[in-house]
Amino acid sequence: MPDIISLGEAVVDLFASPAGVALEEADSFSPEPGGASANVAVALARLGVDIGFVGLIGDDPFGSLLSKRLKFEGVDTGHLRVHADIPTMIALVALSSPRDQDFIIYRGAALKLSTADLDLSYLRSAKVLVFGSVSLSGEGREAVLDAVRRAGDSGVLVAYDANLRPALWPDMGAARQGILEGLQDVAVCKLNAVELELLAGTDDPAIGSRLLLERGVKLCLVTLGSGGAYFNNGRAEGHVPAFDVEAVETTGCGDAFLAGLISGLLETSLQPETLDEASLRRLVRFANGTGALTATRKGAMAATPKRAEVEAFISRL
Ligand code: ADP
Repeated sequence: MPDIISLGEAVVDLFASPAGVALEEADSFSPEPGGASANVAVALARLGVDIGFVGLIGDDPFGSLLSKRLKFEGVDTGHLRVHADIPTMIALVALSSPRDQDFIIYRGAALKLSTADLDLSYLRSAKVLVFGSVSLSGEGREAVLDAVRRAGDSGVLVAYDANLRPALWPDMGAARQGILEGLQDVAVCKLNAVELELLAGTDDPAIGSRLLLERGVKLCLVTLGSGGAYFNNGRAEGHVPAFDVEAVETTGCGDAFLAGLISGLLETSLQPETLDEASLRRLVRFANGTGALTATRKGAMAATPKRAEVEAFISRL
């Protein structure tokens, strides 16, 4: 049984080309496996962690693209379910378009997880369960929340990516409420400054992380792009600067950071509230290294580094 299970969405991103045009101006689209939860799973596999992915894909070529890629990367797909009627989730994305964030999302199977798709004994067998708020933005919401609660009640450490994708929610109020609901059983929460502002009403990592700890989170990580990351577990808090790299594309850095962080947590007592400042700084430094290397390459899933690479990179600096 895997040490970590990533529960959530596997998505095929269709990237518009040439780069820099708006979606409707694109000449062609190239498919790339993605979705935050699938990215986290692959990033963990590359870090040498025994990892499983739980999600729902369609019975179609994009579903098999995702399934094959996860398997190829060494992720356990024994609990990846295939929906007979609903296609795989896809997102059409124009990177660096004149409108900045230019994408269309077809929700597909990924957001329709049901209780029958979620094998509790498998989820409970993991040391860490990581899920993201995207999985709460569709019909699968109650099933995911229930499975996470049950896994947490059985002693599995629950990590949460409070991942804001405004296009998936009716409005920002619904996004806030929906993402906050996911926090209930969470021990480790990772979010960026925009997401912190939405949830805590401030983009100040010290104030915002404190508010999330008051809601029951044991360890809060606020990622700040090239500004590094802020950690707070109630016992120690502080900022760890980013590594100075030539960034090529920062998509997926948050997913890689989360993978780096929880791969490190796996080597601890799995009680994040007990970690001292030195341990937290070491964990965040490794996560920053994983995020920074991801920023140096194109792609999200494709860009995440292997463990040896991160170790060599952070030991040089
Ligand atoms: P998200 O993609 O969720 O918004 P961030 O952009 O904050 O996440 O990136 C996550 C982490 O990746 C950062 O905390 C940092 O460690 C690393 N990172 C991201 N962008 C850069 C960059 N330009 N240079 C160095 N590190 C980066």
